[in-house]
Amino acid sequence: VIPPKGKPKWLRVKLPTGKKYTQLRGLVDKYNLNTICTSGSCPNMGECWGEGTATFMILGNICTRSCGFCGVKTGRPEDIDWEEPEKVARSIKIMGIKHAVITSVDRDDIKDMGSIIWGETVKAIRRMNPTTTLETLIPDFQGIETHLDRILAVRPEVISHNMETVKRLTREVRIQAKYERSLGVLSYLKKNGAHRTKSGIMLGLGEMEEEVITTMKDLRAADVDVVTIGQYLQPSKRHLPVKEYILPDQFKKYEEIGLELGFRHVESGALVRSSYKAHKHIL
Ligand code: SF4
Ligand code: SF4
Repeated sequence: VIPPKGKPKWLRVKLPTGKKYTQLRGLVDKYNLNTICTSGSCPNMGECWGEGTATFMILGNICTRSCGFCGVKTGRPEDIDWEEPEKVARSIKIMGIKHAVITSVDRDDIKDMGSIIWGETVKAIRRMNPTTTLETLIPDFQGIETHLDRILAVRPEVISHNMETVKRLTREVRIQAKYERSLGVLSYLKKNGAHRTKSGIMLGLGEMEEEVITTMKDLRAADVDVVTIGQYLQPSKRHLPVKEYILPDQFKKYEEIGLELGFRHVESGALVRSSYKAHKHIL
C-alpha cells in the first residue's frame, strides 16, 4: 500500500508519439472529431491509435447519472441528435479505424434510454465501414430487456458493461447503479446471443483483494469473457479520492487469478482503461 501522495512512477506516461498517432491527431483536429481518447486525454493514445483503435461517445456529453469517479458532466442532457449515427460512422471512416469502441452517457431521461440511437449507430458504422469491428460499451439500461435486445440485434463483436468496482463500494462509486443489476445485464446478454461479453473494474477506491477476486468470480458466473482492471485516477478534487495506488505486481497477480478463473482475456495494469487493447478482445 502506498499513500497517495503524488503519482508513482509507473503512472507517469510519455506523451503519445508515432506516425499513425500524428496522422490521426491531425485528422481529429481538422475535422473536429469527438473521441473519448482525446477528450479524456487518455494516456494510451499512442498505442491504441497506432493499432487503429479509438473510442467514441454517443448521446451527448451530459449524463443523467452522477458516478463519483466519472469526469462526465451531470445534468439535463441535450436533445437527441438523429444525425449522430451518421456522424460517428463518418468519423470512423475518416480516421480509418479498424476497431471502434462505442460508449455513451446514460439517458435515463428518455423512454428508450438511448437504445434506438445505439442500434442506429452500429448500423450506420457497419454500412460505411464494413470491415471495422465493434465493441459497444453500454449502460445498464436499468436492466430493461427490450433495450438490451436492440444492442443484441445489431450483433457487435463485443458487448461490454462495466462493474467499475466491487459490490461493497458500488453505492459510493456509482450511486444510481446496482451491482446485481449489472451482473444480470451481462448474463442476459450472453444467454441471448452476445458473441463476447466484457466488463471492467477500477482499483484504488478502497477495495480489498478478496473483494476483487469475488467480483471476478461473479463475472465468470455471468459467463463474461473479458475483464479489464486498471488504476482509478481522480478526475478532479470534487471526485472520489484515490485511496491507494496498486503495485504493478498486484495487477499481475489479478491477471493470473483471472486467467485461472477462465477469462479469455485479462487486461490488468495501472494504465489499463476499459478500451485498452480492445481489438484483441474480439478473439
Ligand atoms: Fe482511446 Fe480507450 Fe485507447 Fe484510451 S484506452 S486511447 S480511450 S481506445
Ligand atoms: Fe459517467 Fe457513465 Fe456514470 Fe454517466 S453513467 S456519470 S457517463 S460513468
